[in-house]
Amino acid sequence: MKLLEHEAKEILKARGIPVPPNGGVIKTTAGLAAAMKRAGKAPWVLKAQVLAGGRGKAGGIKLAKTPKEAKALAKAMLGMDLITHQTHGHALKVKELLVEGGVKIEREIYLSVVMDRRAAAPAIIASAQGGMEIETLAAEHPEAIIRMTVDPNTGLPDFQARRLAFALKVPADRVGAFVKVAKTLVRAFLDLDCSMLEINPLVLTPTGVVALDAKVVTDDNALFRHPDLAAKPDHEATALETAAKKADISYVGLDGNIGCMVNGAGLAMGTMDTIALAGGSPANFLDVGGGANEERVTKALNIILKDKKVKAVLVNIFGGIVKCDMIAAGVVGALKKIKLKVPLVVRLQGTNVEQGKEILAKSGIALIQADDLWDAARKAVEAVK
Ligand code: GDP
Ligand code: MN
Repeated sequence: MKLLEHEAKEILKARGIPVPPNGGVIKTTAGLAAAMKRAGKAPWVLKAQVLAGGRGKAGGIKLAKTPKEAKALAKAMLGMDLITHQTHGHALKVKELLVEGGVKIEREIYLSVVMDRRAAAPAIIASAQGGMEIETLAAEHPEAIIRMTVDPNTGLPDFQARRLAFALKVPADRVGAFVKVAKTLVRAFLDLDCSMLEINPLVLTPTGVVALDAKVVTDDNALFRHPDLAAKPDHEATALETAAKKADISYVGLDGNIGCMVNGAGLAMGTMDTIALAGGSPANFLDVGGGANEERVTKALNIILKDKKVKAVLVNIFGGIVKCDMIAAGVVGALKKIKLKVPLVVRLQGTNVEQGKEILAKSGIALIQADDLWDAARKAVEAVK
């Protein structure tokens, strides 16, 4: 799960990492004056709260020297479509702005902790020349990027943090402040089960260091250990994905038009591939889980059919633990409650498959039965046409 900059900074601040004076997050210009007052004296920085880096270059970060300028900027930024080099051509609507007090920047440093899978340990990635050109720097001058593996059992020891400070040419009078930030960042990464924790830029100010930007990505598989993080809204989830999560169904929305209901994540992936191979395009990944009963089938179908892009549905169930006749009864039961307006292809295989097919055939519901996955995928692609 990705956190927005202001959420990430709250976490860092609570642990003692210096951040700029926070004026708050505004959704309309009505709250701007109060936010600026909380942030302190001019200049102010207005920052679009979207889940993508590269905002600075795309016009999502603006410096205002006067209240009048701030108001004009906020007006223009709220509601704007932001396309950054990280959004893959998609536009992100700016719904919120973080209002901060400006910070005197002496130098911008790049500092992050990521999971190094090969080393099976966290790694610090850092560079003395941080800021908005970090991707270009990494590509053209890889030698300017410092990598350091961290022992997950101990965190970052003082000597290693100091070594990092020297490598980054942090001036002697600010080494102490930097060491504290680096150690705290690693501790936060470990405590929160992050997959990434990035500060870019961490700036040297005349008197210390300040995290001007922050990015936190947590590992969803560890969310059960962090009720406070789990309670935060998932900003990347669509309304359908949130509804699915509530129903305990794993669902990921995609761009295609064939809705998929499958039991088992691997089979769901295989179904999506087979649809693509047959010339179609899946509208979603959906795993109803092992115990697919009528209630779950109904919930899953409801979610799939709420997606306006869906022009056909493919149900692909393998009766291993569940029995096909039970699934068939579930589908029939669900379709008594749901009005189906698009073609439905059903492929059942496994235990009691004959009884299952018979239940579907006798139900009187207009659905297309398929014998194997390839047959099912082709029928679904055909149905869309
Ligand atoms: P990103 O482009 O999405 O990574 O957004 P950042 O928050 O990193 O901001 C981009 C750039 O804006 C930074 O590298 C800074 O140069 C500049 N910036 C951000 N906050 C401030 C600030 O408080 N004062 C000043 N002067 N510049 C800032
Ligand atoms: Mn940044």
